[in-house]
Parts: sequence; C-alpha cells; structure tokens
Amino acid sequence: MTPPSTPGGEIRISAPLLGLISDAAEAAFPAECCGLLAGHGNHTAGFVVTRVIPSDNVAETDHHDSFEVDPQVRFDLMRELGEIGDGPKSDERMIGHYHSHPNHPSEPSARDLAKAFEPDLVWVIVGVKTGKTDKITAHILHPQDTTFQEIPLLEEARTAYPADLEDS
Ligand SMILES: [Zn+2]
Repeated sequence: MTPPSTPGGEIRISAPLLGLISDAAEAAFPAECCGLLAGHGNHTAGFVVTRVIPSDNVAETDHHDSFEVDPQVRFDLMRELGEIGDGPKSDERMIGHYHSHPNHPSEPSARDLAKAFEPDLVWVIVGVKTGKTDKITAHILHPQDTTFQEIPLLEEARTAYPADLEDS
C-alpha cells in the first residue's frame, strides 16, 4: 500500500533499495556501514531515491562510531550524474547518504552534527541492535539552525503485486 502523499519534505524509497541499506548495516555490524543515495526532488517537494551506492567506510578513526564515504565513490557518482564535468544528464543527482549506528538509536549523533555542512543532503541513519536492523530514519539539516530535523521516510513497493501472488 502506498502511503498518502504528504505536502513535501518526505523521502521515498523502494523496499528493495531500503533492503540494500538494511543488509549493509547488518553486514558491517559491529562497525558502521555507509554509502550514497542518488535520486531526485528537494526539501519542498520531497525526495525519491533511485539508487543506493555502497561505499567502504574510510574513516581513519574507530569504525564503530564514525564513518566516512570514500571520496572516490562520491567523485565517481557525481561524475556519472554530470554534477562534475559535463553538466546534469537528468534530474537524478546525489541527494544524500546513509550510515549505521551499531547498538545506538537511529538518531543523529553529536559527531554527525559536527560533520554536517551540506544543507541539501538527506541523512539516512540505520539503528542496528545486536546485529539486526532496528529502525531506519531520515534527517535533514535545519536551514536556519544547527540541528537536524527528522523527515518521514516512506518505504514503497516497487511493483504492486497482490500479496497472494508473492506467496504462491
Ligand atoms: Zn551517525
């Protein structure tokens, strides 16, 4: 079932793509996973994720409570999308990133806030409890403030098959 549309601000992601993020978070446990999100939309209209791009966690410090997306992965994505180089090829662009919080809630940490300097990006955070995905949330940097604001994350089925077809 597709949730009713809200007046902007939410981020929509298909169940298979959300599954990729959840699986990566569980596979990396007890370290943090991270990666990039491509898609389209904006703060007013809301966002749609079209692609999940996993990255190695290249943080130089402890991977249990910090993450850093490989700059090469980001460069390659932005080049592919035309954000670097030839100019945009479509309305698809880098809209955000994701990382996990092993044995911590899916709330942005003080460390996250200290690293947040790009107000256009959506932060997706996976809370992982003893190796299993607990909760996935999305946040944006409040434009007038130095705080995060949670936005609704809506999981959508890619194809609307009736449930009885999937069971047979
Ligand atoms: Zn974090």
